[in-house]
Amino acid sequence: MQSTTLDDRIDDLSHDLRSPLAVAEGYLACLLDGECGDLNGEQRDVVGTALEGLRRLQAFIDEGLEEARSGTREADMVEEDVVPVVQDVMEMFRLMASRRGVTLTGRIETPVARVLMDQARMRRVLTNLVSNALKYTPAGGTVSVSLAARAGRASVFVADTGCGIPAEALDGLCQRFARAPQGRGEGPQAPGTGLGLAIVKEILEEHGGDLWVDSHVGAGSTFAFALPLCAGSVEVLA
Ligand code: ADP
Repeated sequence: MQSTTLDDRIDDLSHDLRSPLAVAEGYLACLLDGECGDLNGEQRDVVGTALEGLRRLQAFIDEGLEEARSGTREADMVEEDVVPVVQDVMEMFRLMASRRGVTLTGRIETPVARVLMDQARMRRVLTNLVSNALKYTPAGGTVSVSLAARAGRASVFVADTGCGIPAEALDGLCQRFARAPQGRGEGPQAPGTGLGLAIVKEILEEHGGDLWVDSHVGAGSTFAFALPLCAGSVEVLA
């Protein structure tokens, strides 16, 4: 029997992941094109957001596989406004939040916050933090995302009223595969891999940013990070 190399396994994985995604994308595109009947405005928004999420996932997979092959990925750093990226990620989670009975609010305190970033990777940071906040917040709770530009930094806060994280679990939470026990032992632990925060930390380090967490069991958590602002930003004092 022939032995399988790492590259062979990556190719198999790529094929196995791409095929079902392409099928789902095809069906959603049909729906959006009205091939299964006319959609109203809200239905078009929902299908459009799902399609966009799927296309991003395909891009993530392509990137991840490329990274696995080459061992690295060149960061594509460009000076640009982070405001539309935050707004876009919030929009992506709007439906998920409402289906879970969680209120998702946003407060953007500046019209322009330009930072040096790899937009796809910054989107990954925001996606991981907002999806965690929703995942660990039960129905009836709130997830608030805010962005401020002051003192030369763009600061993003993702705060939730969820289960919180025990103090003893906070250290080391950003290590790969680290997972905290769910607050107060309520219910089974939410599904997850313990990789999201490790990725977030790594990406923020690449961007010269830092991540901090404030959390109390039973009260909720706030994950925040700050990036250096570039010229052309509008700082707004609190
Ligand atoms: P995952 O959610 O897949 O387990 P992460 O690396 O994103 O992986 O998070 C690591 C751990 O940190 C989670 O297992 C969870 O215990 C804790 N955690 C992360 N975000 C939150 C949050 N907003 N509220 C409560 N716990 C959280």
